[in-house]
Amino acid sequence: MSARAVVALGGNVGDRVATLDDAVRRLGAHDAISVVAVSTYVDTVAVRVDGPDTNAPRYLNAVAIVQTELNAEALHEVLQEIESVWGRERRERWGDRTLDLDLIDFDGQQISTEALTVPHPRAHERLFVLDPWLEIDPQASIPGIGSVALARKVLT
Ligand code: ATP
Ligand code: CA
Ligand code: CA
Repeated sequence: MSARAVVALGGNVGDRVATLDDAVRRLGAHDAISVVAVSTYVDTVAVRVDGPDTNAPRYLNAVAIVQTELNAEALHEVLQEIESVWGRERRERWGDRTLDLDLIDFDGQQISTEALTVPHPRAHERLFVLDPWLEIDPQASIPGIGSVALARKVLT
């Protein structure tokens, strides 16, 4: 049984293009994951706990659609492994990072465990997720929220 999942990629430290390229390559290199589509990389302002910060290094963000034989928890573990290859450290909330990989949607399922909430609870309010997602899937929708195109309109 193969599932379709949506992964958001982002980073604002180091060579951001090389980092995102490598993350996509590693996803595709996994036996149980194939990359179906990758958006263009979008350059965005860093968002801190207290809002957008034009003084912080800017992010490069992207969205990838993958097909996978893994379940959501296992896919999330793979995402965390790829983050750690890039020395991702978790210090302050929404602090600078080489690589952040979030599981945005997993086959339209709603999942709530200690480690994982799917759909990602903040995806629908983030243009840096919705814009690249719409680019590769204009019909996309978020369980419990509705159409991504509509969610995007609400934000602007
Ligand atoms: P945000 O979640 O607001 O984008 P963040 O990406 O900076 O913030 P992290 O430090 O990367 O947050 O992750 C915090 C925790 O969120 C992790 O321990 C991870 O297990 C958990 N988590 C829950 N649901 C998800 C999901 N759908 N995708 C990625 N991580 C998730
Ligand atoms: Ca994130
Ligand atoms: Ca994350």
